[in-house]
Amino acid sequence: MRDPRYDILFEPVKIGPVTVKNRFYQVPHCNGLSATLPRGHAAMRGVKAEGGWGAVCTDILSIHPSSDTTPFPQNKLWESGDEKPLRLLTDAIHEHGALAGAQLAHGGWAVANRLTREPLLSPTDFPSRRDPIQAKAMDKADIKAYRGWHRRAALKAKEVGFDLIYVYAADDLELLQFFLSRRRNHRIDEYGGSLENRTRLLREVIEDTKDAVGDKCGVVVRYTVDELSGPDGLVAEEEGRDIVAMLAELPDAWDIKVSGWPEDSQTSRFAKEGYQEPYAKYVKQVTTKPVIGVGRFTSPDTMVSQVKRGILDLIGSARPSIADPFLPRKIDEGRLDDIRECIGCNMCVATYNVGAPINCTQNPTIGEEYKRGWHPERYRRAKSDASVLVIGAGPAGLECAQALGNRGYEVHLAEATRELGGRVTRESSLNGLSEWARVRDWRVGQLAKMTNVSIYRESRMTGADILEMGIPTVVIATGASWRSDGFGRTNHKAVPVGQGVRIFTPDDVMSGAQIDGPVLVFDDDDFYMGGVVAETLKARGAGSVSLATPNAMVSAWTANTLEQFKIQRRLLEAGVELHVTRNLVSASSGEVELECVFTKRRQKVQAASIVMVTARLPEITLYDEILVQLGSEPGAAVKAITRIGDCITPGTIAAAVFSGRRFAEEFEEPQADMLRIANEPVEIDNVERFHSRHEDRTVAAFPF
Ligand code: ADP
Ligand code: SF4
Repeated sequence: MRDPRYDILFEPVKIGPVTVKNRFYQVPHCNGLSATLPRGHAAMRGVKAEGGWGAVCTDILSIHPSSDTTPFPQNKLWESGDEKPLRLLTDAIHEHGALAGAQLAHGGWAVANRLTREPLLSPTDFPSRRDPIQAKAMDKADIKAYRGWHRRAALKAKEVGFDLIYVYAADDLELLQFFLSRRRNHRIDEYGGSLENRTRLLREVIEDTKDAVGDKCGVVVRYTVDELSGPDGLVAEEEGRDIVAMLAELPDAWDIKVSGWPEDSQTSRFAKEGYQEPYAKYVKQVTTKPVIGVGRFTSPDTMVSQVKRGILDLIGSARPSIADPFLPRKIDEGRLDDIRECIGCNMCVATYNVGAPINCTQNPTIGEEYKRGWHPERYRRAKSDASVLVIGAGPAGLECAQALGNRGYEVHLAEATRELGGRVTRESSLNGLSEWARVRDWRVGQLAKMTNVSIYRESRMTGADILEMGIPTVVIATGASWRSDGFGRTNHKAVPVGQGVRIFTPDDVMSGAQIDGPVLVFDDDDFYMGGVVAETLKARGAGSVSLATPNAMVSAWTANTLEQFKIQRRLLEAGVELHVTRNLVSASSGEVELECVFTKRRQKVQAASIVMVTARLPEITLYDEILVQLGSEPGAAVKAITRIGDCITPGTIAAAVFSGRRFAEEFEEPQADMLRIANEPVEIDNVERFHSRHEDRTVAAFPF
């Protein structure tokens, strides 16, 4: 039963000629599936529609080959075959009564056209962000052509069944935004200079789109109200708002955000729920059209407050809809405890940025809906009345236990410590990572409701305990611990350490060990841990803290989670001394020796303590022990032992959760189910066209 306080969230909202059935609006978000894995894409969006989102949008839908994001997957409307995968998508969304939104896009100089090799387009001659090429300043013919492509794509999108058509001027990724912004547009014709001139193209494209599809589709402008780049760019309370005021009633809705992407998709380490309000709040002051906005909203109270205070009309969501595609339905059914809240870690963004299909730390089923037939809320029924013993209640063990429990198996979950959560509990004690505890909290909350799951805290299991319990299926989820010897990506043997320097690991930092300065954090892991350990030590008053890394940047892999710049800035501001491109080669007598990775020149840095953030070792003692015991007791009741999570291959929390879910999904299921992986059938229907394209070519005159 829905709490009446949330009724307002279920009111319909009219967007031009169409009506969204409620205020839950899945804004466009990348996913690494798109037209490359169209069935996977359609299934993923379809599950969101099933979960109650009133509108479900695509990610980037390129309108023309001059906007080509290769190698990143994209949707496109370039030629006739492109409609097919999009129809899969609109059908999947419509099946559940949601509106389908098409984010028509042209990336201007923000793309690189690596597949199509078309010249890049831009308001002004401008270097490409990605490759050593430049974009061409668009002349009038280019502008006319661009308007034609957009109009044609809008018509196609309507034909394919989209209900909402985007005019996209946001994310620091779009041609239309580049025209708006002083810092990107240096033209001296009627499309540059004054604000009115810079806004001209956006106005024209909105008018074109309304004219083309406004009879049947809502036209939504996705717009960056603040570029957070200072007075040269768009500023919310100045030109950012003025542009909305000038075009206020022209589109059917405004989808508002800040840019670029690192500011828009901020992680919980840097921003809390509702962080875009200071910028979005200006928009409803100047338009009567519905306003959509984001802010990693997971709390229905915050959502209601946004609507009631007149900040937003529709609760835009990308990440919360990834972490919990059923968030609206759970609010509707009064099941707030079941909401799987996004933790703001940006693994979903990172997987896209490395060119992979989407992963999520909280929702291991995202991207697996078609590929493996997984569903975030539905589980295959247990095949028998088997019992399973899961050892270790970190993310892998917790997810495995909850999914097996949901399937209906009898589950026994044993955890050595009093606290559940394993690494998630430990890591959430570090600076800025408190929301990561949601990975534990959601799973513990689910387990608490199951009568077929027993949890044993403070139960460090031995091989003998396992044999004594006599449960035939045993899952070992005992995790991993950080190495202290310096072995890692760069040093493939232990780093020599003499007297006078104390060695610690992130595990020590997380358990609150006293670490005296000066401290050197040696980060050879490259993800978040090195940076967050240095930040935490500084905050705990460890005194002088320095960080050395063989990489050219601190926490380099966090470029994929959009955090690298912020992490390095935060460390510098906190007074952490940074030694980049430096390997740790030895330590003794209150000093460490660092070596330049290029010149091999060495330097000494004072350090009474070192925190080694290099690599982890799987905790396999128990696994080995039980295998030995089973070897000597062939008649034992224990029949199958499987490792999951970090105790196979230490990795991300997302990987541990996935591993736990995978065991549960595949337990007692036939192997054939697993073979659907990556099996998107390819239709070879273009062979004839390929041949005909070559018929009219003269054969080159070879000299032999
Ligand atoms: P993962 O990320 O793979 O889930 P974690 O390191 O987060 O791994 O969690 C492993 C959990 O296993 C920890 O909470 C740890 O206390 C627990 N554990 C380790 N060894 C044992 C054991 N012998 N018996 C019970 N629990 C154990
Ligand atoms: Fe949220 Fe992290 Fe999942 Fe992305 S990966 S939706 S940030 S929990």
